[in-house]
This record gives sequence, structure tokens and C-alpha cells, in this order.
Amino acid sequence: FVYQANLVPYTRAELVEKVAANLSTSRFEHCLRVEQTAIELARQNGADVERAAIAGLVHDYAKQLPDETFIAAIQANHFDPDLLNYGNAIWHGVVGAYFIERDLGIHDDIILNAIRRHTIGAPEMTLIDQILFVADFIEPGRDFPGIEQARQTAKADLAAGVRYEILNTLSFLIKGQKKIYPKTIDTYNAWVPTQE
Ligand code: GDP
Ligand code: FE
Ligand code: FE
Ligand code: FE
Repeated sequence: FVYQANLVPYTRAELVEKVAANLSTSRFEHCLRVEQTAIELARQNGADVERAAIAGLVHDYAKQLPDETFIAAIQANHFDPDLLNYGNAIWHGVVGAYFIERDLGIHDDIILNAIRRHTIGAPEMTLIDQILFVADFIEPGRDFPGIEQARQTAKADLAAGVRYEILNTLSFLIKGQKKIYPKTIDTYNAWVPTQE
């Protein structure tokens, strides 16, 4: 489709070309599937389809930048220095939004926040945040134990899909003895426990 609002200074075809140029084929194809899944979730949930589509297409734009590029950006732009204790998994969203704004000319905060939050979530998430977070998790190329339940849950109730994803991701990280970024725990505490 053709972008209507002035959220991005490029046509979709130009944006596709820029994203493709920065990513491997498989990662680029993931972005196309997240775009499509985000469009579907936006339609189902009465959200802004164009913002959902743009966020989906570009969300992993920074995923394959070298660590040194992220470290330099964190230092030069006064990001939280604690980020330096983590890696690409956390950086490509939180710091990736900086490169997306700079390279792709996207200045819309609703889109940029959804990208910042797409890996770790946030205690409070807008509809577009939730759509990108879930679309990234359930796009048709994903395959992991629980994926079918994740898809069913998210299609029935977007917020329930967010909850399912946070619980699943945190459990997976803990089982793998990974370091948990504190904001990931804040997200868990805000969304998952049903009682104190
Ligand atoms: P992708 O970029 O499409 O592969 O997906 P995401 O951006 O959602 O996630 C990237 C990776 O970050 C996944 O492997 C997540 O499990 C992982 N991740 C999410 N939260 C944390 C965290 O707090 N700590 C660590 N170490 N990894 C995390
Ligand atoms: Fe990502
Ligand atoms: Fe995700
Ligand atoms: Fe992704």
C-alpha cells in the first residue's frame, strides 16, 4: 500500500530498499513478516495500520550493526551507561531507534517508542507498542514450543498475547541462565503476576 500520513520521508519501496541494504536476507524477510503481522493485528485492534506497518518493517533495522557502533552511540548520546553491561539483544531496540531516526528519517515518537520497547516491553505499553511486541513474537516464520498458543492467545486478546510473551521470554532467559535487563523485570512485574 501507499503511506498516507507523513510519518516517513520515503515511499514503502524506498524504505524496503534501505532496510534490505542493512540486513541479511533472512533478517530482512523476518521484517517483512513482522510488517504483515503488525498490519493484521492493527486491523483487528482498531489501531493505526500505517504506524504498525512502518514499525514492523523497520524494527530490526539496527540488528546487524557491529557492537562497536552501538557502544560509541551509547557513549556519545548519553544513553544509560548500564546498557554497556548488555549486548545486541538489548541494544538493537533501545539504541536501534536512534539509528532508525537518523538513517530512515522517522521522527514519530509512537513508532520510535514501539521500536525501543519491542524486545524488553515496558510497564505501560501503547497499542502500537503491544502490536509490534506481539507481531515480532508470532510472525509466521517463528517456531518454538508454545508458538501456537502464543498466536491463539494474541489473536483472541492482544494484551493477553503480551502477557504470554513476557512470561515465556523471561522463563526462557532464566532457564538459559541469561542476564536479565532490569527493565525486562519491570515489564514482567507490571504485566504478569495476578496477585502479590
Ligand atoms: P528479534 O530481534 O526479532 O530476534 O527479537 P527480539 O528483539 O524480541 O529479541 C531479541 C533477543 O533478546 C531474544 O533472543 C530475546 O529472548 C532476548 N531478550 C529479551 N529480553 C532480554 C533480557 O532481559 N536479557 C537478555 N539477555 N536477552 C533478552
Ligand atoms: Fe528485535
Ligand atoms: Fe520481540
Ligand atoms: Fe524482530
